[in-house]
Amino acid sequence: MNAPQTHPSMPLARRLALVKPSATLAVTAATAMLRQQGKDVVDFGTGEPDFDTPEHIKAAAVAAMAAGQTKYTPVGGTAALKQAIVTKLARDNQLTYGSDEVIASCGGKHSLATAFLALFQEGDEVIVPAPFWVSYADMLVLAGAKPIIVPTDERGGFRLTPAALEAAIGPRVRAVILNSPSNPVGAAYDADELGALSDVIAHRGLLVISDDVYERLTYGGFVQRHILALRPELRPQALVVSSLSKSYAMTGWRLGYTAGPKHVIAAMATLQGQQTSNPCSITQAAAVAALTGPQECIGQMLAEFARRRVYVLERLAALPEVTCVPPRGAFYVFPNLRAYLGRTVGGYELRSASDLAAYLIAEYNLAVVAGEDFGAPTHIRISYATSMGELEKGMDRLARALRTIAS
Ligand code: PMP
Ligand code: GLU
Repeated sequence: MNAPQTHPSMPLARRLALVKPSATLAVTAATAMLRQQGKDVVDFGTGEPDFDTPEHIKAAAVAAMAAGQTKYTPVGGTAALKQAIVTKLARDNQLTYGSDEVIASCGGKHSLATAFLALFQEGDEVIVPAPFWVSYADMLVLAGAKPIIVPTDERGGFRLTPAALEAAIGPRVRAVILNSPSNPVGAAYDADELGALSDVIAHRGLLVISDDVYERLTYGGFVQRHILALRPELRPQALVVSSLSKSYAMTGWRLGYTAGPKHVIAAMATLQGQQTSNPCSITQAAAVAALTGPQECIGQMLAEFARRRVYVLERLAALPEVTCVPPRGAFYVFPNLRAYLGRTVGGYELRSASDLAAYLIAEYNLAVVAGEDFGAPTHIRISYATSMGELEKGMDRLARALRTIAS
């Protein structure tokens, strides 16, 4: 962390002492660096589909460029994109929003950061069920709010229970973040569970931020219902956030969006208007094609993820003393490696998941993300959004490493 006083000639603002680099992006960067040095790193770190963006989406971008759609657009997105988002929310989520109730941003991360800045300030507390995606806590702190991390039970599939939610609500708590399916555990709430959480949310007057970026990626027949479709009366106190990154293999294009009450969406547009202006105009044209064009591409990618999920779970089940909750969605598994911590191997003291992750990348060229920054210090995250060949190679390496540690 860069404490301001460590650079006397150009000290940093105090807020830099409050945030740390994203653990997920740090692993992605470390992998790229080692590969540049010629190392054969298996990348289980990066949380992005390995598939290319579907052709019809790329074609729309090329056409937009050819047609000169290379200028500023309205800050919150073109009319066509807003309409496409409205259409998508109605088609996929049974949610009716107007064009003035949606805003496009430069990725789901930007949508969430802008929403937090619009809603929260010093003194506010926001409930974040753990394990949680690494960026929620830091983004909340940057907005002045305090994340209230609420642990969930591994045996309960890492799902927040209504009782745990209720117990976490203190006088300063304003909101809860729901991420279903979740990163990093793939926890997803069914209709009954969403209904029970909604009762608490409604009764206690909480805001709810529904991070739906993995909504299309669910397995084993699990269908993700939307909390607001089940409980429309929560709409005035809810924001829906989603992204094209995961569903359409568009991580690099940077397009996320938010739906919610008109005054919040307008506030987010004010912030964006002073910070980033519109998301890339060409990306917006591609996003219209993604959201309104053929949707079969999602099913094709999902079928491949499903195959890989089964394979990785089988391999994990064969590892002694490793437990892993089978994910209902997303493309991660989050095994508990507690049994392998507290040991020393080849000069490496494995006190925590990050020590273990450091050992795996240094000695086995295997990149995983340590659980600490997800709020789970004895776990590691494996992304199976990579080819079967790489999965086999990486799981072999993990098995060998654990055998060595145990021996
Ligand atoms: N929410 C969750 C839970 C995520 O895992 C991610 C990861 N990328 C995002 C939001 C943001 O994604 P993006 O900025 O690529 O849309
Ligand atoms: N969400 C992905 C991950 O968890 C991408 C990196 C990031 O934005 O955190 O790996």
